[in-house]
Amino acid sequence: MSDPRASAAVGQAIKQGKLPHPTTLKCADCGAIATSYDHHLGYAPEHWLDVQPVCDRHNSARAWAPRAKELSTSGFSAVLIRVPTWLLEELDRDSRESNRSRNSQLIWMLRQRYPEAAAAHQEDQGNRARDSRLREDEAEYTWMVA
Ligand SMILES: [Zn+2]
Repeated sequence: MSDPRASAAVGQAIKQGKLPHPTTLKCADCGAIATSYDHHLGYAPEHWLDVQPVCDRHNSARAWAPRAKELSTSGFSAVLIRVPTWLLEELDRDSRESNRSRNSQLIWMLRQRYPEAAAAHQEDQGNRARDSRLREDEAEYTWMVA
């Protein structure tokens, strides 16, 4: 459910020039001209200005898929890191030997390094994997990581 206070905050930010008007931007999902902003992190007050420009079609598509949206934005984070090539080659060799993807191997290593945090989130992961509402690719990804 949207929150009118969140929309009002965006409207005010546009008026004050803190946010560009959405029609000057492209839809975050398809690249068409955007018509509005989507509160992709939800409607909590601290996220009132965390918005992505979307076209009409994707604004309604997102409204019908709140569960998937929530998972892809808060469950996993994508980061770009720079590592020496030899180190990456070593990682890839290790990944192949362990029969994991590069991504899964990195997560496995990080979980070894931060066992307490990993244990704290263990239950969390299990719940996600069992959740039948997960999109197929997300369920598979969670399974590979676990
Ligand atoms: Zn779109």
